[in-house]
Amino acid sequence: MSHFDDRRTFAIISHPDAGKTTLTEKLLLFGGAIHLAGEVKARGAARRARSDWMKIEQQRGISVTSSVMTFEREGITFNLLDTPGHEDFSEDTYRTLTAVDSAVMVIDVAKGIESQTRKLFEVCRLRSVPIITFVNKVDREGRPVFETLDEIAELLALDVTPMTWPVGMGGEFEGIYDLVGNRLLLPEGPSREFLGKVVEVSGLDDPKLDELLSAPGVAKLREDAELAMAGYAPFDAEAYRNGDLTPVYFGSALKEFGVDSLIAALAEHAPPPRPQPAEPAPVSPANPEVTGFVFKVQANMDPNHRDRIAFMRLCSGTFKRGMKLTPSGHGKPIAIHSPILFFARERELADEAFPGDIIGIPNHGVLRVGDTLSERPGVRFTGLPNFAPEILRRVALKDPTKTKQLRKALDDMAEEGVTQVFYPEIGSNWVIGVVGQLQLEVLLSRLEAEYKVGANLEPAPFETARWISAEDPAELKTFMDQNRSAMAKDRDDNPVFLAKSAWEVGYIADRYSKVKFAATRER
Ligand code: GDP
Repeated sequence: MSHFDDRRTFAIISHPDAGKTTLTEKLLLFGGAIHLAGEVKARGAARRARSDWMKIEQQRGISVTSSVMTFEREGITFNLLDTPGHEDFSEDTYRTLTAVDSAVMVIDVAKGIESQTRKLFEVCRLRSVPIITFVNKVDREGRPVFETLDEIAELLALDVTPMTWPVGMGGEFEGIYDLVGNRLLLPEGPSREFLGKVVEVSGLDDPKLDELLSAPGVAKLREDAELAMAGYAPFDAEAYRNGDLTPVYFGSALKEFGVDSLIAALAEHAPPPRPQPAEPAPVSPANPEVTGFVFKVQANMDPNHRDRIAFMRLCSGTFKRGMKLTPSGHGKPIAIHSPILFFARERELADEAFPGDIIGIPNHGVLRVGDTLSERPGVRFTGLPNFAPEILRRVALKDPTKTKQLRKALDDMAEEGVTQVFYPEIGSNWVIGVVGQLQLEVLLSRLEAEYKVGANLEPAPFETARWISAEDPAELKTFMDQNRSAMAKDRDDNPVFLAKSAWEVGYIADRYSKVKFAATRER
């Protein structure tokens, strides 16, 4: 039996500091955490042993690597895929979002929608990923609730439905009112945390509320909640699942308010695995044949080993340890003897995985981001894009005899999606491309630490890159011949046009109307 209806595979999207880490910790606390692949911003000694590359994370206090966290609650298995929280994110983040069925958007009540939240939201929107909103930090002064709701609605062009309502904020915070369940969640103790004190009421008119809350607090709650229920669309499960409406929960991850409601909302409303876009046809999770795709490849934490873990999202079938799966593109089946199953609480359970689950597959670089794995070849999942890099740099070796090592390193990192690499037709300096500045530092530090290659990154005379193609091969060849100095190959030998500016892309694209210039390349 393949049970996937009880799977909720989701990610948290937020701007740095909104409280993603705190919320993650509380989610794991409330749900019985089964296995943590990479601790949540692990602190102290456990971290120190890791490679130099990880030092960047430590110094900056950020998490560059993603991880998978699984917890279980009332028969539902939640797979939380972590996305790097730094403003300067890589394609990794985008790709992780291709492996989830829904997302939780965390917003700081004082700051509203911030730049990174917005970028990540747009990626979710592209794939119609449904979003539950968690407005965090109501234990602190924040913006008025209506202002927050209207901002979400306006900036993101979404319908919003408040599901809970904070009674006051900051120093006047008195609790959270559950508009759907008619319950009041109350703070306790000197730290005014949520320790489980819930009072059921018959509705907003219930006189019990007058006893539990201050007079101005209850008056404002009644007035606001009435206005809100009249002014915002009622919750509509279908609109939510289509990505047109977001239910909004208020809370404080720090004080543990609203975390429980959030888990309940994920269990009740968030979609289980859905059919995944694929060639020749979308793959239903009910399909008995095992299929999945690799959305992330991570280098082993141990710099002395070149092992890689490929993270595969299972899309259909029941995966069993030892199973042979064939990666798209290379044909040879591989037996998966030692999968890392993140939901395995007890060893004996670690032998099976279901659609929506993530499997870590140790390998030596055979598996690459975007690969489909299936019992029988012929299926290929689509929609895992490479993005046009926004920063291009030439790589100059300090020691010219290390060319081979450099190529290996650049290929490896391209495979992980940390950077892209381009080999120009003319000239010997390879060009690397990244989506964010931080990846440059990661690259240099890993070159030294893992590959013992000293290199400098020099400005390249290019600003962006486009994958080129044409229906008529002759047209493509003409273009390439006439623009030799701007031509390069990517790691898979696809022709790439290196442009001096976005303006140049437009200019050239006008002149060569038969050539297609793509800012993303689907693998
Ligand atoms: P991330 O960068 O999104 O992972 O944010 P963190 O979880 O690391 O939180 C950033 C800061 O906000 C930390 O100092 C947290 O203690 C604090 N914080 C997180 N949640 C809350 C909350 O609900 N209330 C208050 N007052 N502070 C919070």
